[in-house]
Amino acid sequence: MMFEKIQAAPADPILGLGEAFKADTREGKVNLGIGVYKDADGQTPIVKAVKEAEKRLLETENTKNYLGIDGVAAFNAETQKLLFGADSEIVRSKRAKTAQSLGGTGALRVAAEFIKRQTEAKNVWISAPTWPNHNAIFKAVDINIRDYRYYNKTGHNLDWDGMIEDLSQAQAGDVVLLHGCCHNPTGIDPTPEQWATLAEMSAEKGWLPLFDFAYQGFANGLEQDAVGLRAFAANHQEMLVASSYSKNFGLYNERVGAFTLVAADEETAVRAFSQVKTIIRTLYSNPSSHGGSAVAIVLQDEGLKAQWVAELDEMRSRIKEMRQQFVDLLKEYGAEQDFSFIVNQNGMFSFSGLSADQVDRLKDEFAIYAVRSGRINVAGITAANIRYLCESIVKVL
Ligand code: PMP
Repeated sequence: MMFEKIQAAPADPILGLGEAFKADTREGKVNLGIGVYKDADGQTPIVKAVKEAEKRLLETENTKNYLGIDGVAAFNAETQKLLFGADSEIVRSKRAKTAQSLGGTGALRVAAEFIKRQTEAKNVWISAPTWPNHNAIFKAVDINIRDYRYYNKTGHNLDWDGMIEDLSQAQAGDVVLLHGCCHNPTGIDPTPEQWATLAEMSAEKGWLPLFDFAYQGFANGLEQDAVGLRAFAANHQEMLVASSYSKNFGLYNERVGAFTLVAADEETAVRAFSQVKTIIRTLYSNPSSHGGSAVAIVLQDEGLKAQWVAELDEMRSRIKEMRQQFVDLLKEYGAEQDFSFIVNQNGMFSFSGLSADQVDRLKDEFAIYAVRSGRINVAGITAANIRYLCESIVKVL
């Protein structure tokens, strides 16, 4: 018997929280754990532009034959336009190749395999803190992980000097993983000037940048959010990008993402990408069609695209509005600490500054669920729970 000896794995810090929330029978419980957008009614509805695309898809699709290893071609082409801009040099020169993937996680996993097998990278540099799965994914392929400082606890802002100091130790060929926007979990992004500095440093030192772009459109807008990535694209011959459409298209359970490889020229890109296809073939052979096809339909249709952009704008505005109300109400309920930094954070998350003990008390005493790092999902705050939430937080401060 071999299975007898197997140890139980620890619950995933974020997904495990969702399971605990589900099992909680207390009324009025609040889930600010997992990063899923919720509307003013606390629902996660299907994006209307997606629903319409799905209708069209159902009417027109006439086969369930396999996709190619790299998925839906139109989806891949549209992904590159969102990343680099429709008439960017990278798109025109065809030196980027994209494979539809199983969400952003799938893209990162493919990236990790590619880095391990096909590059000479000695280290992968990951921000501290980061989305916990980053570390787990690179551990899975046995690459050495190095941390770079990112967050300044006292100022609730970017630890720019620490970041630069740590990254200055990165060697030529090392992979530097960057959050394209809406850094998870801090919600703090470099400024455009800081991005430009990082891109210059990277090009000079010969790093291989890997952008994790899971929240395009959630900070300031689709184009604005690509500023960092495009600063790198402008002066790098080689880079990798992992896109996710889980949040900005609300396609969480359809698993839609993309892995993009940029090389110095088209011929090199095609050759390197052939290895990416080999990796995918042995992992899952080829992706499923539905989600990627729906995204392609939206992005190729002017009307549907405009509708999607409007819906995305609405999600972003609601989160910003909740940030402001959250800060105002904490003050109203008597919080002595200044929480105004929360207003300036980007995306779904806020690094609230709550300690692990305070987070535990919120769960145990008030049925409010957040990640123990103090990360809260601002998109989970609604008119119905915000007062209870702020009142409870003030009690644990
Ligand atoms: N990267 C980051 C930083 C994320 O927060 C997420 C989602 N939580 C992902 C990647 C992956 O998203 P998915 O696999 O659901 O598309």
